[in-house]
Amino acid sequence: MKIGKKTFKLADAYRVNHGKSFRLKDFDPAATRGLHSREEAIAMVQQSIAMLQDLQEKLYAQDEWSLLLIFQAMDAAGKDGVIKHVMSGVNPQACQVYSFKQPSTEELDHDFLWRTNKCLPERGRIGIFNRSYYEEVLVVRVHPEFLHKQHLPQHLIGKKIWQERFEDIRNLESHLTRNGTVIRKFFLNVSKDEQKRRFLQRLDEPEKNWKFSEADVRERECWPDYMHAYEEMIQGTATPDAPWYVVPADHKWYMHTVVSSAIIETLESLDLALPKVDRERRKELDAARAALEKNSKAQQKHRG
Ligand code: ATP
Ligand code: MG
Repeated sequence: MKIGKKTFKLADAYRVNHGKSFRLKDFDPAATRGLHSREEAIAMVQQSIAMLQDLQEKLYAQDEWSLLLIFQAMDAAGKDGVIKHVMSGVNPQACQVYSFKQPSTEELDHDFLWRTNKCLPERGRIGIFNRSYYEEVLVVRVHPEFLHKQHLPQHLIGKKIWQERFEDIRNLESHLTRNGTVIRKFFLNVSKDEQKRRFLQRLDEPEKNWKFSEADVRERECWPDYMHAYEEMIQGTATPDAPWYVVPADHKWYMHTVVSSAIIETLESLDLALPKVDRERRKELDAARAALEKNSKAQQKHRG
């Protein structure tokens, strides 16, 4: 199936550049706009995997930009699957994936951006954060006991702490952008009903039992608090340079297509190209070829 270039604009409808007027209720987790079938989506993801391979090679060879992809979601939204599918064609050497779980004692002894800063992608690479510093305004906000574990001086924990964290995150992301790191953030927007269906599947299907976690079910009870935290997080941190994509996640095939479209569009906008070989370099390459040939001729003579 041939997929038109227009379809690669699929992600635009879910991109939030300015948080101010963002409302989560305007985004339908079950949307499949722009695609007619699962088959069409699968064909499109296949095609984008090939495009991504090519773009990533140029990104690596050019060695100027880096791309940071951040994934946030409720449990069972399919973060792992997106990362696996969308990045399946990418050279593993040029891609760095980090998962951020509960912070260690050492991590808690530093500022909240410390642990992720150490994992930012090098130039020429694609870095993937499976959860990120955004947990600091999500799980930490929903469960204030996590904030208390951070040993912050008491008078720094004021009413505005979340707004302050949004500001710190915006400043970090603008600093990174100015230094050649392109940032794209994905909220995989699964509905509460679909999450329940997936949890039940994990209980019903023996090969999925290992994925079931009681803790995930407990988190589900805080659903409204999480949605409130997500909404304010996007309002406070969506910017034209570091936009959020609020990706419909109830249909995994659609979610994969939207995420891969967003990545392709982003990389294409960078006008990546293999480094040009100028005259000087051409001479060096010709000299290297001559030396190689001379060397192998000498070896042949020696053997003969
Ligand atoms: P999976 O379940 O697919 O393996 P996961 O990302 O859900 O992946 P878990 O080990 O189940 O991994 O959960 C990690 C937990 O760590 C999540 O509940 C997350 O909210 C929590 N976490 C991440 N960052 C922080 C943080 N800074 N402070 C407190 N908790 C955090
Ligand atoms: Mg989990």
